[in-house]
Amino acid sequence: MSFTARDAERLYGIDAWGGGYFSANTEGHLCVHPFRDDRGVDLLQVTHRLKRRRVRFPALVRFPQILAARVGEIFDAFERAIREFDYDGTYRGVFPLKVNHQREVLDELVRAGRGLGMGLEAGSMAELAVALAHRLDRDALIVCNAYKDKPYVRLALRGVALGRKVVLVVEKPQEVSLILEVAKETGIRPILGMRTRLRARGSGKWEKSGGSGAKFGLSTQELLDAVDTLREADLLVTFRLPHFHVGSQITDIKRIKDAVKEGARIYAKLRADGCAVDILDVGGGLGVDYDGSRTAVEASMNYTVTEYANDVVYNVREICEAEEVPVPTLVSESGRALTAYHSLVLLEVSGENQTPDNREVVVPEDAHDGVQELLEIERGLTRKNHREYFHDAEEMREDLLGHFDLGYLSLRDRALTERLVRRIGRKALEFALEHRYVSEEFEALQKRLITKYIANFSVFQSIPDSWALDQLFPMVPIHRLDERPTVRATLCDVTCDSDGEVDRFPALRDVKDSLEVHPLQPGKPYYLAILLVGAYQDVLGDFHNLFGRVDEALVNLGKGGARVTRVIPGDDADDVLRLYRQDPEAMVASIQEQTRVAIRERRMTRAEANEILAEYREALEGYTYLDFSD
Ligand SMILES: *Cc1c(COP(=O)(O)O)cnc(C)c1O
Repeated sequence: MSFTARDAERLYGIDAWGGGYFSANTEGHLCVHPFRDDRGVDLLQVTHRLKRRRVRFPALVRFPQILAARVGEIFDAFERAIREFDYDGTYRGVFPLKVNHQREVLDELVRAGRGLGMGLEAGSMAELAVALAHRLDRDALIVCNAYKDKPYVRLALRGVALGRKVVLVVEKPQEVSLILEVAKETGIRPILGMRTRLRARGSGKWEKSGGSGAKFGLSTQELLDAVDTLREADLLVTFRLPHFHVGSQITDIKRIKDAVKEGARIYAKLRADGCAVDILDVGGGLGVDYDGSRTAVEASMNYTVTEYANDVVYNVREICEAEEVPVPTLVSESGRALTAYHSLVLLEVSGENQTPDNREVVVPEDAHDGVQELLEIERGLTRKNHREYFHDAEEMREDLLGHFDLGYLSLRDRALTERLVRRIGRKALEFALEHRYVSEEFEALQKRLITKYIANFSVFQSIPDSWALDQLFPMVPIHRLDERPTVRATLCDVTCDSDGEVDRFPALRDVKDSLEVHPLQPGKPYYLAILLVGAYQDVLGDFHNLFGRVDEALVNLGKGGARVTRVIPGDDADDVLRLYRQDPEAMVASIQEQTRVAIRERRMTRAEANEILAEYREALEGYTYLDFSD
């Protein structure tokens, strides 16, 4: 039966999680569609182009046009909801900087959001400094969350003095007096928000950001006390924005509705009580469907962007109507949903953990009797006896390896034992898998027999949440998608950490423990993409084994097709070494000293010494990942 790109789309769930941005073309290559239409960027062509431009792999490829598209989608969804429900107010989203601080990403988001009133959200003084440097629309907000000290508050107030709409969100009770103190010192009137702790919680991995035990936010009493403090200082009018955030990647729309209703009720009661609140910030949490199942499981979400916007707008309006107060300006802090789709990591598979054992097993006459017996088991194994023969082989293996431990089995016979038992296992498993129910022992065997593909990347740098939080990311070969993938493999990175392996892959309503891949062809590269990595991964990566930031390329689709508009080199070894206060120059000097000693002791010629030094310098100036090109 033939296998087509359509089959690959189904197998890898490209239609399901791709959000319209990805497809497999008739040549079997993975394509990116920045405008969600027929116009596509062929990733294999991009790969060849990057290689010609000497971009090193792994490489991160960004599609700025997808960022712009996502900004458009989310603002459009709110715009449509506002019209549909006759909402007498506006929407002003803010982008939380912590989700991706990369300059090119931020520049593009800000550019796309200009004219729409899009603002930024900062969670630290450094992030606020970045936000203030951007030219936003006049009415765009800069929302300052997280714990604050005096310098952070002062910088925010300076922003207000510059005419920016910088909102200081109070996260804990003591911050009110801190802000009032700095306001008095500087003579600048603040714009205040207050984060409230809702009873409602999110759902999924980040559930504990909400609820009454959350790390941030004021309890109801603390909120009222803060209001009193402001009233006494005659600054109640500065409190404009009630805020809540119940966690990232909220998988279940019901949780969003519950939180919005509760938050809107708090807004309405404050307003009815004489507070000047006129902006409601519903936080982040808008999800990304990483597995494409459209369900409330961790990697997914059971709603769309449109439904999200509708539910926010509708519920806030309903509650304001019931409480007879004017509706607020709406703010959401969507980070993940804006950025996840725009970037992917291209990897090259460099090999597998075991070379396929295609050679015939030749058992010499003088081999151990047990080995002879294994050979007979292999030859005699049939559909009917596969379980029994498999058990016999396992038992024989134990015996033989026991013999080895005692010194009675040669290395040659040990190798034969391992090879034969493996073959028997594979054959038996094939028969076992024909049954509707696969027994536990064969499931375990299947796991043991899964191939490991070794790819040139670091899980810790490129998809840290895969390691830290078991988050799932779609992975797909970028070519040969018109060829049936006959191998099941996990993906090992090049760090020397056994955690540096991806063995969980998204599947519809399930998690796969291996990925369908193609057999490697000698001398030919095999490329995979890790997708939807644009949110958080970039900025959380660490430098395990000193593997650094990867080379980046920006790709734009224009009239003449795809163009690589920019290449940004990743870290070289010396960049990463300096991060840890290592001193590459001193390291070179040390090697130099060692060559001097070797020359003096006549163990080395001057020419050899120079060669060693040149190579050592080259190593320090090189990419931190592996180079398979020679
Ligand atoms: C992290 C965070 C966000 C972003 O959440 P997403 O789920 O990525 O949209 C928004 N607001 C606050 C307060 C946050 O801490």
